[in-house]
Amino acid sequence: MKGSVVIGKVRGIEIEVNVSWLVVFGLVTYMLATNYFPQNYPDWNPALGWLLGAVIALMLFVSVLLHELSHSLVSMNFGIPVRKISLFIFGGIAQMEKEPDEPGKELKIAVAGPAMSLLLFVLLMVLAGVFAAAGAPETLLVLLTYVAQVNLILAIFNMVPAFPMDGGRVLRALIWRFRGDFQNATKIAASMGGLFGYFLIFTGIFFVMSGNIINGVWFAFIGWFINQASQASYQQMVMSNIFDEIKISEFMTANVTAVDYHISVQELVDNYFYQFKFNSFPVKRFEEVIGVVNLDRAKNIPKEEWNQTTVGGITTPLEDNLVVSPNDTVSKAMTKIFSNSIGRVLVMEQGALTGIVSRTDILNYLRIHNQFNR
Ligand SMILES: [Zn+2]
Repeated sequence: MKGSVVIGKVRGIEIEVNVSWLVVFGLVTYMLATNYFPQNYPDWNPALGWLLGAVIALMLFVSVLLHELSHSLVSMNFGIPVRKISLFIFGGIAQMEKEPDEPGKELKIAVAGPAMSLLLFVLLMVLAGVFAAAGAPETLLVLLTYVAQVNLILAIFNMVPAFPMDGGRVLRALIWRFRGDFQNATKIAASMGGLFGYFLIFTGIFFVMSGNIINGVWFAFIGWFINQASQASYQQMVMSNIFDEIKISEFMTANVTAVDYHISVQELVDNYFYQFKFNSFPVKRFEEVIGVVNLDRAKNIPKEEWNQTTVGGITTPLEDNLVVSPNDTVSKAMTKIFSNSIGRVLVMEQGALTGIVSRTDILNYLRIHNQFNR
């Protein structure tokens, strides 16, 4: 995500915060300090309200993070790696590397988040009860009960059966389990997501018209986001379904032009980039393919060094997410293409280069497919 900062790592998962989250932080602090606290605790000093508002906003952040971590740890337990957790304006997303292959796994991963939020609600309420009995100051009790309630709302809201929210994933897992049709289950759960999105948008508009502007705009925004996300996740599934049926050997561009590793960058630019107009080329040492050279790497070398630098020096070495076999599905190639930095994969069979598949090939295929299937 653009404008994001990695703030740490938990069990190999990057925790990333987007600048848009600052909007939530500001909004929550502001609403509490200027609205909620003055109405409910009129004798409080305004500065205390701002401080407590900010602390609650931070704890909200921690609550969402724990919710996402809970999804992630269960997912990793099932062997589905989680690359990162992103926290942004509408909450958090744990980026799983693939979809679960069984409804039972999807169900447990989906429920893990809301279960954590519910657990936090109970823990914080018990803590508040204990502190109250011990005569703790009012501010601490307000803090604990408020954050507890937010966690309860998080648990309930996320369980609404609207894909891609957690409840929508539960719904998909159940339909998938009982009907055995993953695609149909996704379609139903995603259309629930679309409807729920519209419902929130209309609720938001209603709020705005009755004078509750900030909440109204907020509802409408979240509704719009859920609506978009449900459509996108459905399209993504349709796309990977199409590509599950096509083999790379039928899809790839064969007769690939490779570059010798010992030629200079100058020759590479003159005789390959300008000549063939591709963004990257496989690199060969004698007859063996050793990696890929792309335009970006060449661009970063100062022009005066082009003659002394060899292609071998700026080659990205072959690694697992750069190589597929002709018998793999296009889905597999697509996953690798969108996760590596080169934007293409080499098709290799027993060490020999047989073809190449690029991001542009996939997008062009989809464009043509859409034209014929309107
Ligand atoms: Zn969740």
